[in-house]
Amino acid sequence: MSAPRNSLDAIASEITRCTKCPLHKSRKNAVPGEGNPNAKIMLIGEAPGYWEDVKGKPFVGAAGKFLDTLLAEAGVSRAQIFIGNILKCRPPNNREPAPDEIQACTPFLDRQITAIKPKLIITLGSHSTAYIFAKAGIYIQRHNRNPRKTLQNKRSRLGFTRFPNIPPSSSTLQRQIQTNTHRRFQTA
Ligand code: SF4
Repeated sequence: MSAPRNSLDAIASEITRCTKCPLHKSRKNAVPGEGNPNAKIMLIGEAPGYWEDVKGKPFVGAAGKFLDTLLAEAGVSRAQIFIGNILKCRPPNNREPAPDEIQACTPFLDRQITAIKPKLIITLGSHSTAYIFAKAGIYIQRHNRNPRKTLQNKRSRLGFTRFPNIPPSSSTLQRQIQTNTHRRFQTA
């Protein structure tokens, strides 16, 4: 077994036993993330939803189907990438991740990134985008209408090249947003 796979398995084992924040009390399953340990592309979402919590897997249900559509149109399979989340346990009623939960949980994500060493990170939501940007010294403020341009201007110190921010779960609700999201994903 490869070193990245061993590391990811060890991290996943810790996550499934983790009690570092109150979300462990309400979870059915922790969702460590899954995918190729040598992935060049890593997708980072926000937190497990209902079906992710039930199955213990990231991006299943409607959001997962939409993500699979995006990946297929980009010519990428799930087997080629790694999919994870900022939080590994579902917040009740799918509420926003809380700052103390993000602080408690993101050391797992940091270790996953270190193990995988992806060339490209795609963030799937505002919290994951803000977290990854902050690691590159870029802090998103509400008045910043074009954080992507800010990033492209600064270029990352992390070795990644692009950070498209796509929220597939909310996009399933609106056809127009889906169309825009398809376009943005294909250009990522
Ligand atoms: S959300 Fe993260 S920090 Fe909180 S219990 Fe789950 S794995 Fe641990």
